[in-house]
Amino acid sequence: MTENNRISSINSLNGDQWEDIRSGVITLCSNFPGEYWRSLDSKREYPEEFVKALTDAGYLACLIPEEYGGSGLPIQAACIILEEIQRSGGNGAACHAQMYIMGALLRHGSKEQKDKYLPKISSGELRLQAFGVTEPDAGTDTLSIRTKAEKTKTGYIINGQKVWTSRAEYSDLMLLLARTSSNKNIKRTEGLSLFIIDMQKAKNNGLTIKPIRTMINHATTEVFFDDLEIPFESLIGSEGKGFKYILDGMNAERILIAAECVGDAKFFLDKATEYASSREVFGRPIGQNQGIQFPIARAYAEMEASALMVDRAAQLFDNGISCGAEANIAKLLSSEASWKAAESAMQTFGGYGFAEDYDIERKYRETRLYQTAPISTNLILAFIAQNILGLTRSY
Ligand SMILES: Cc1cc2nc3c(=O)[nH]c(=O)nc-3n(C[C@H](O)[C@H](O)[C@H](O)COP(=O)(O)OP(=O)(O)OC[C@H]3O[C@@H](n4cnc5c(N)ncnc54)[C@H](O)[C@@H]3O)c2cc1C
Repeated sequence: MTENNRISSINSLNGDQWEDIRSGVITLCSNFPGEYWRSLDSKREYPEEFVKALTDAGYLACLIPEEYGGSGLPIQAACIILEEIQRSGGNGAACHAQMYIMGALLRHGSKEQKDKYLPKISSGELRLQAFGVTEPDAGTDTLSIRTKAEKTKTGYIINGQKVWTSRAEYSDLMLLLARTSSNKNIKRTEGLSLFIIDMQKAKNNGLTIKPIRTMINHATTEVFFDDLEIPFESLIGSEGKGFKYILDGMNAERILIAAECVGDAKFFLDKATEYASSREVFGRPIGQNQGIQFPIARAYAEMEASALMVDRAAQLFDNGISCGAEANIAKLLSSEASWKAAESAMQTFGGYGFAEDYDIERKYRETRLYQTAPISTNLILAFIAQNILGLTRSY
């Protein structure tokens, strides 16, 4: 279809050199059609088979350097993997975190930590999918987290609570941000440290995980730490530098999530254009009406613009050029583009948009998340206002 060809146009700008990856992911995802995701969604089950297939094919280790068993690809390739998962109607949120949180270990971990964990993460023997940052009383305001890691003779003892720790039940390792100093005389950014936690050992030894049921199938949880003892070797990098290490990884996170949003937008545009062309009301296709065409056309334009921004941010990232502005703007625009596309598809499908069998309502729920997590739209706007435009800080 003409519209579908146009929807693919952006691929040729950013994806020619990754065409093998794109077609490999498309083939893999074709084994996990809408019925698969729908059935898991209704039971709120984890897509175990899909994550295994993605791991076995090496896609989840694409950013891990070859010396540790990964394929050492740039983030542009990872974007294509996540975009195609979303475009197929799947949900990369089941496993995308490994791609970006692994970066903290890679950049700041010791040689021993990297040798110990990265090859096993590459092979799929270990999953590093859980990222414990958000707390009940410290959502957006990360610097006020209260989960404490107190030094002992043998390591640290952890007490506190995290919330929205996604995939904790399906992960072997967790990256945890905890407070190692409450000293008011040091900079607020320097009291936090980053740890890698062996979750198998921690369960029943001070770590408790409680699932949170949400409007999407996201395997998210609350995590409680009650005198959990961890060895010194769990600390990543230097004590007190955890917040900086987390910030270092945020651009990758924003870019990858933005690529997922572009994939979601394409999913909705594919579905909406197909349905608008085939559904006849008053003896003609509904897509002949401008009231149906225009919202789809507008969503398409916004998707293309945001995809360019994602591509630009990814290229800067891969060339080691600072890309905080581009990564944030890409995430802002693409999450709004996917939502516009979701709205246009929902309206185009009329009543059938609400029926589970068409996958519109499921993806509609899923794509709404990106305006809240991993960072909310307001906070990106505040970043643009304060850090790019130099306006007065609002908090
Ligand atoms: C399904 C799901 C999965 C998640 N997975 C993870 C995970 O794996 N690990 C993890 O650590 N976290 C995770 N999160 C948490 C997520 O990152 C937070 O929900 C998000 O950062 C917002 O924090 P909050 O929910 O506490 O909102 P709050 O901080 O309470 O904010 C509420 C609202 O107020 C707005 N707001 C707050 N301060 C300002 C301000 N100064 N100016 C303007 N607006 C403001 C926010 O934008 C937001 O809209 C997940 C969340 C969800 C819903």
